[in-house]
Amino acid sequence: LQNGTVLRYHDPRRFGAWLWFSGAVETHQLIEKLGPEPLEDAFTADYLHAALSTQKRALKLALMDNHIVVGVGNIYANEALFAAGVRPTRPAGQVSHEECQRLAAAIRATLLRAIEAGGSTLRDFTDAIGKPGYFQQHYAVYGRDGLPCHACATLVQHTRLGQRSSFYCPHCQT
Ligand code: ZN
Repeated sequence: LQNGTVLRYHDPRRFGAWLWFSGAVETHQLIEKLGPEPLEDAFTADYLHAALSTQKRALKLALMDNHIVVGVGNIYANEALFAAGVRPTRPAGQVSHEECQRLAAAIRATLLRAIEAGGSTLRDFTDAIGKPGYFQQHYAVYGRDGLPCHACATLVQHTRLGQRSSFYCPHCQT
């Protein structure tokens, strides 16, 4: 840049973009229809229950839809659904308010735990001082197809939802 600052953009999964926009950022077409961030106050059980109530697809797909809530990727969706005791394949519109309470809390807790543990799931991820992310060492169900559930020893099951690997314990998650 003109002031001598070097700006580098590293996007190994190529999901990112840089766009020039001079209006209010929340009015940009890529942002205005996004759901709340899980860690902001607007993400409540009431909100989640209302947002899911019209959805016919599988719960996990709805939780990974940025129009409902942003930032819940595949691994975190799997882990949060296990923590909440809800099966990923359930029709989203049939999830109860009480389950939405558990889900909202589990999504927040899963993300906070991942942030604390260093975040990323990318194999080549390192933080600003070069340390790798460590969240992948603490998965309850993700990638544990056929292994015993840590809570009940039932074998973790695998299925595909919208082309994404989904893992759950058939005993702990209903
Ligand atoms: Zn279990």
